[in-house]
Amino acid sequence: MSSLFQIAVFDGDGIGPEITLPTLRLLERVTQGRRYSLVFETLPAGAQCYADTGAALPAASVEKARAADAILLSAMGLPHIRYPDGTEITPQIDIRMLLDLYAGVRPVRVVRGQPSPLKIADTTALDFVLIRESTEGLFHTLGKGEVTQDYARETLQITRPVSEKLFNFAFRLANQRKTAGIGPGKVTCVDKANVFRAFAFFRKIFDEVAQDYPNIEADHTYVDATALWMVEQPQRFDVMVTENMFGDILSDLGAGLMGGLGLAPSADIGDNHAVFQPCHGTAPDIAGQGLANPMAMILSGAMMLDWLGQEHGRPEMIEDAARMQAAVDAVIAEGNVLTRDLGGTAGTLEVAAAIEAAL
Ligand code: ATP
Repeated sequence: MSSLFQIAVFDGDGIGPEITLPTLRLLERVTQGRRYSLVFETLPAGAQCYADTGAALPAASVEKARAADAILLSAMGLPHIRYPDGTEITPQIDIRMLLDLYAGVRPVRVVRGQPSPLKIADTTALDFVLIRESTEGLFHTLGKGEVTQDYARETLQITRPVSEKLFNFAFRLANQRKTAGIGPGKVTCVDKANVFRAFAFFRKIFDEVAQDYPNIEADHTYVDATALWMVEQPQRFDVMVTENMFGDILSDLGAGLMGGLGLAPSADIGDNHAVFQPCHGTAPDIAGQGLANPMAMILSGAMMLDWLGQEHGRPEMIEDAARMQAAVDAVIAEGNVLTRDLGGTAGTLEVAAAIEAAL
């Protein structure tokens, strides 16, 4: 069994390189002296790459990413660099389609000291995961929508093969969390089955897949009520699974519950590849100033270690992922070394150093 894991790194645009550097350093630190190692290769892609070379996601970068064991991506896109049709450069979305990364995993955790707007007494009880389908749904016609003088049309697509894989992923994750003592073992299908036939179809497939997981509770909610409950009763959720656009919106709500984008990590997982990246964008307003919060990127790196550990049956990597997460939690709980978005005055590297010390 190989103990060398190749990691393709996209350090991206804006604050991307600033948060990538300390994350790679921490990953190197946490894996020191262990029986496995990570080999990083930084690849070009993004808005600046498009401006410089005419390619936002060069074919050579995609091939190297495809060959890697995992992909770590910071953020891509810059408001002043756009395609000729005026749309933004979003290779981070293109790569989800290219590599069939159907499961967008968006954890929502609130730990002690985290500036959540929620008024719940015991915020440590808040730990759920939103899974957003990431290759179809209302993003099916992404970049191909029809627009005439009189109408515009985008098409929502739900397919059985992708939905079955998505729901199996959700139930397996709920099972994994239940075994690890994190959640009660429950999956909630979030849809609009009362209004749209496509969502009734989505729900029907969910119910069929649920039959294979008798030890996991299967629940349903409508997306509008879900937005309300995520604020009023977030503890009712363990694993939520939903369509692409609903997931896009609800995951930002989730980041809001966590106290901001600077704390929200994510993963986009398929059958053969996985990309780990923070939920936030390139933050051009603070880029180049050393002010960005590196926590979401560091937590994404921890999710990558956890996923590699689960995929390759290496408990050591799962432990290291937990150590990284605990170190971030400790710095938040301490509250002395935080970036401006969390009410502090520290810079990116100071926060990274505090996390390294907590390790
Ligand atoms: P995108 O469309 O790519 O998500 P966006 O402009 O909508 O980009 P962000 O780039 O995430 O969103 O920026 C939104 C706000 O959050 C900005 O004010 C930015 O400075 C802030 N922000 C985002 N990420 C961080 C971070 N890691 N640390 C501190 N502030 C951040």
